[in-house]
Amino acid sequence: MAEGTLFVVATPIGNMEDMTFRAIETLKTADVIAAEDTRHTVKLLNHFEIKNKLMSFHEHSDVSRRDEILDMLRQGMKVALVSDAGTPLISDPGAELVAAAVQNGIRVIPIPGASAVVTALSASGLLKDGFVFEGFLPADNKARKAALLRIQSETRTMVLYEAPHRIEKTLEILKDTLGAERPMVLAREMTKVYEEFIRGSIGETLVRIKDKPLKGEMVLILAGAEKEEKIVTDEEITAELKSWMGKGKTKKDAVGLTASSLEILKNRVYQISLKL
Ligand code: SAM
Repeated sequence: MAEGTLFVVATPIGNMEDMTFRAIETLKTADVIAAEDTRHTVKLLNHFEIKNKLMSFHEHSDVSRRDEILDMLRQGMKVALVSDAGTPLISDPGAELVAAAVQNGIRVIPIPGASAVVTALSASGLLKDGFVFEGFLPADNKARKAALLRIQSETRTMVLYEAPHRIEKTLEILKDTLGAERPMVLAREMTKVYEEFIRGSIGETLVRIKDKPLKGEMVLILAGAEKEEKIVTDEEITAELKSWMGKGKTKKDAVGLTASSLEILKNRVYQISLKL
């Protein structure tokens, strides 16, 4: 029996010319295409003259739909998973299906292509020491607070997705969290006719949006917090050690307390404590 394979196929994020040869070939030769929105994917298939079977697989699909696909894969079928745009699973459905396929020993083959997160980052000019992808900020209050706490202390470049009707509110929240001065890029309608990169601080971007509301799809790239390079001198360490010992702490305890209060390695404090 042929080996079943799940192909995770990236499709364009706006510009049809970003479709890859491999993606076209895979969608032509799969036994079935599992699509987030079949009406949407029909347009893509028509554009590339691909005639193939479609079935729906979206975020509200229940477990039975996932099991149906797993059964097809176990029977040796080739299933191609696509979302409406970009790479499936990236703020799109498919994570549980891929995890279940992996757990069942089914081969999973990615067909790489466009994704808004990488596309926006590549032209942002804000990429330094890696990045974190937050996706859409959670709608639920508690989860959103937790995400904002993470964002506040993050030193790497951050990527967020947002919808046009929520962009102003989200930028207000980000201004409160990161300050109006934080550099950012708003990447809008990438790869399409009205592609635009709005570069500036959060405060400046907000003023611009209030002036003229933005339409279309958008990604936010935010610079990470500046790393505080703390330089602690030996004299400061000695003074801190003496201060703890003056408060009645043993030398051993003073070493630990000094290391944590000055946020430096314990061994360095220990070496200095030997001279006291
Ligand atoms: N799976 C997709 C990917 O790989 O990027 C993302 C799907 S998510 C449901 C849709 C969001 O991606 C949009 O709300 C927007 O934030 C972002 N996006 C998708 N296409 C875009 C484009 N052409 N320009 C800017 N942002 C885009």
